[in-house]
Amino acid sequence: MAEKKSKAKELKDKLFYTQKHSSRIMSDKEQSEADRYCEGYKKFLNEGKTEREAAARAIIDAEQAGFEQFDQSKKYKAGDKLYFLNRKKAVILAVIGKQPLKNGINLTAAHIDSPRMDLKQNPLYESEELGFFKTHYYGGIKKYQWTTIPLSLHGIIVTSDGTEITVNIGEDDSDPCFVVTDLLPHLADEQYKRPASKLIKGEELNILIGSRPFKDDDESESVKLNLMNILYEKYRITEKDFLSAELECVPAFKARDIGFDRSMVGAYGQDDRVCAYTAYTALLNLKSVPDRTAVCVLTDKEETGSDGNTGLRSAYLKYFISDLAKCCGTDGRTVMSASRCLSADVNAGFDPTFPDVLEKKNCAYLNRGIVVTKFTGARGKSGTSDASAEYVGYVHSLLDNSGVVWQTGELGKVDLGGGGTVAAYIANLNIDTIDVGVPVLSMHAPFEVTAKNDVYMAYKAFTAFYKA
Ligand code: MN
Ligand code: MN
Repeated sequence: MAEKKSKAKELKDKLFYTQKHSSRIMSDKEQSEADRYCEGYKKFLNEGKTEREAAARAIIDAEQAGFEQFDQSKKYKAGDKLYFLNRKKAVILAVIGKQPLKNGINLTAAHIDSPRMDLKQNPLYESEELGFFKTHYYGGIKKYQWTTIPLSLHGIIVTSDGTEITVNIGEDDSDPCFVVTDLLPHLADEQYKRPASKLIKGEELNILIGSRPFKDDDESESVKLNLMNILYEKYRITEKDFLSAELECVPAFKARDIGFDRSMVGAYGQDDRVCAYTAYTALLNLKSVPDRTAVCVLTDKEETGSDGNTGLRSAYLKYFISDLAKCCGTDGRTVMSASRCLSADVNAGFDPTFPDVLEKKNCAYLNRGIVVTKFTGARGKSGTSDASAEYVGYVHSLLDNSGVVWQTGELGKVDLGGGGTVAAYIANLNIDTIDVGVPVLSMHAPFEVTAKNDVYMAYKAFTAFYKA
């Protein structure tokens, strides 16, 4: 017989806010569904290691799900599925809803760029018969983490005659890979005295790419010549063509399960492809026509501040909504003013090894579901859009009513750092916006960690939001 609850226990259960491990809430069936869903997620991570690759993958999947390229001259009706690709780096997907567009859209926005090392425009050099590429890192990285790990090279080179060459080398097991070297501990006494942020300096992130000379004669720079000759034979490029290339160096390892219980995913670029994958697959998998028009943006340039014409500080989303509004007989500002957005980006998960940076009552934890973050910013909420109590209340009840396990989050203790997302740029369009996302350990490291349950809860949350 069950023991009778004490009055205090009964009242506590009723009055206190507590959070549980998602596995204590999910059924066995849902747990295995989450594991199965993450198999697709890992594949996406392996195939989309740059914004271009992730955008291309999303478009292929969307086309397979019946989405067609947005055509401003068309009239759209409920159930129509369309996509817009912005300069091969950002994607907008939409499913037209039953309600007129002037009633607003349900929008999700995630980013598909991740921290990495970009090649400089004149990258190739030789020093003491070793060949290297110079880099300029992209986004916020702890530079020392990017040494002595296998790296791959992705991107495009546009030659002077306009030919576009796609580069993807280091991912296949038979490919060579690349590496940034570091000093041996035996000789690192002076290096250890540097502050940790300069343990490896930006100009020391040089990528080792070769070591054999071109044999014909005793010319100088013959290792560089040999490398350039290999690149010429493989890609028909000369050194000058690097000037018009976008080449990104990323970790070469694949997404893996973490833990004896296989409960987590370890991979590069989960910030923010975890929210990108969950947001766009939720839209593609919608079983019925949504009530309001459902839109998913996968944007670029978040990690460098969202500037540029593929970032969300640019007008491309606003223009798209205005163009779609015109097709539907209304105008952009009417649509935007009535719209709701889930700004989908990761948050820091609590790491027991580093407990001091997060405030335990308000931070996010692995396995407690999708994180709802009312505000971001730093030093007095500077730079945040701070969702209204009304909108937070709306999102909370939507998640509760849809069986989504969720938690609240905050990016670090007050005045201890902080960060922003695209939320503010969408809210600035007069759209109700809040941050939601998956908690991550080792964010921005070459190998980030998420919990499978949380990934699945993000998918479930976006599905519920599109249907709302
Ligand atoms: Mn992010
Ligand atoms: Mn980030």
